[in-house]
Amino acid sequence: MANLPLMITLTTVLIYLLPSCIKSSEIILPKSLNLTLLTDPSAISVASHDFGNITTVIPGGVICPSSPAEISRLLSYASNGERKFQVAARGQGHSLMGQAGVPDGVIINMTCLAGVVVSDDMKYADVAGGTLWVDVLKKTAEKGVSPVSWTDYLHVSVGGTLSNAGIGGEVFRNGPQISNVLELDVITGKGEMLACSPQLNSELFYGVLGGLGQFGIITRARIVLNHAPKRAKWFRMLYSDFTAFTKDQERLISMANDTGVDYLEGQLFMSNGVVDTSFFPQSDQSKIADLVKSHGIIYVLEVAKFYDDPTLPIIGQVVDMLTKTLSYLPGFISMHDVAYFDFLNRVKAEEDKLRSLGLWEVPHPWLNLYVPKSQILDFHNGVVKDILLKQNSTSGLTLLYPSNRNKWDNRMSAMVTDEDVVYIIGILQSATPQNVPEVESLNDSIIRVCKDSGIKIKQYLMHYTRKEDWVEHFGTKWSDFSKRKDLFDPKKLLSPGQDIF
Ligand code: FAD
Repeated sequence: MANLPLMITLTTVLIYLLPSCIKSSEIILPKSLNLTLLTDPSAISVASHDFGNITTVIPGGVICPSSPAEISRLLSYASNGERKFQVAARGQGHSLMGQAGVPDGVIINMTCLAGVVVSDDMKYADVAGGTLWVDVLKKTAEKGVSPVSWTDYLHVSVGGTLSNAGIGGEVFRNGPQISNVLELDVITGKGEMLACSPQLNSELFYGVLGGLGQFGIITRARIVLNHAPKRAKWFRMLYSDFTAFTKDQERLISMANDTGVDYLEGQLFMSNGVVDTSFFPQSDQSKIADLVKSHGIIYVLEVAKFYDDPTLPIIGQVVDMLTKTLSYLPGFISMHDVAYFDFLNRVKAEEDKLRSLGLWEVPHPWLNLYVPKSQILDFHNGVVKDILLKQNSTSGLTLLYPSNRNKWDNRMSAMVTDEDVVYIIGILQSATPQNVPEVESLNDSIIRVCKDSGIKIKQYLMHYTRKEDWVEHFGTKWSDFSKRKDLFDPKKLLSPGQDIF
């Protein structure tokens, strides 16, 4: 019989040593490239994982470039002659399923290329690809200006969100982040360094925006700026009726800039999940918990109006509009008056809280979807009520809010559903290593139900492993997408973690 105590001790030692045991395969770069390839266990270990915490993709090495020219040298070498290794740009590795990984290839740590330069006329900022959005905000706000479209979480990289879309509560008014870019510097899979814009190398420009890292590495993005307001009036209102909730959301996203809100999202409080009532006064919190218990689901409309001293009078009118014309449950409205920076950076506080509880670095089998407005009620009934609410428990957040489709540019690679109003859905569940398969099969059943009932969803931040799923995802854009791949990355070196080619 095996020696049990010895086996337990060996297993413990192995588990303890695991991160430093991750072995990468060897890549040898010629001296003439003058590049330092990091292959130490800690560099490899960091680059092997992502926020999803579900996959491990072990690269051969990591490069921390000191200039775009270094990336160009690496890609020229990799693409010359036989394919030597593949390459992935990595922003923060906040992907969910290894999309920023590269098995046995080279990771480019884009955080080594960070920086923001605001133009003299303050109409745009030139931002290096690895810069975090929070740093773009800090630098631009110092000068009284700001980008106009934000993700909920700002500790993601500019190159990373522009490779997806960059969506959040300002999309309905200003479009996703990809709609607010004037030009880019990109290094293609062949190592060419090209500036591109709607006028110059437009095929590359439109391809890269939402292009999942397939056509080139973004080393600079010229981002549109506008006036940076000083403060935000931030509201949450509760609804027990889904139709009233979506009707108010849809009305608010159709309103003009001066009379309407600047930010709009929505989330669900479900009786089988964690209900965070902390936004509301202490005196209302137990009443809200009771409402959730009795209704099963309470819908939370979230809006913000940005302002500074000169625009303060408009705020009174907007508050009046919200309180007098919306159909939320009487009394269940709460307002916080916060600095613009703190409003935009609000998820950082959640991150800090979850980190302190050891709940940040857990598996995240998230599912992000776009649903056309005409089918949102079917989605609510078939998915939210019939699937999510019927689970014994759910962990995490469910977001549900509409946006205007005309703020997207069809020439870009990013995909979204076709109707004028598109609902953005985030089913953002946390898991344990043990129940990942269970949550993944729940996600699969959500997608199946949508397909079976004809709900025309598109996934966001998706990870397909079958070519036919990618072809279906891109639909009529697939042919352009694959032509652009042949044009800009013919050796198929870039971002192989997306599993497209
Ligand atoms: P990575 O994960 O490092 O990379 C993503 C992909 O882009 C990879 O394929 C990578 O190879 C490629 N890539 C990275 N940098 C470049 C570059 N410079 N050039 C070309 N390709 C590149 N997204 C939203 O849209 N809205 C949200 O509200 C939102 N909230 C989030 C909240 C949290 C807590 C987290 C963790 C993520 C959230 N995201 C949101 C998702 C986020 O946009 C994606 O994770 C995105 O990939 C950016 O993360 P990243 O910079 O770490 O990119």
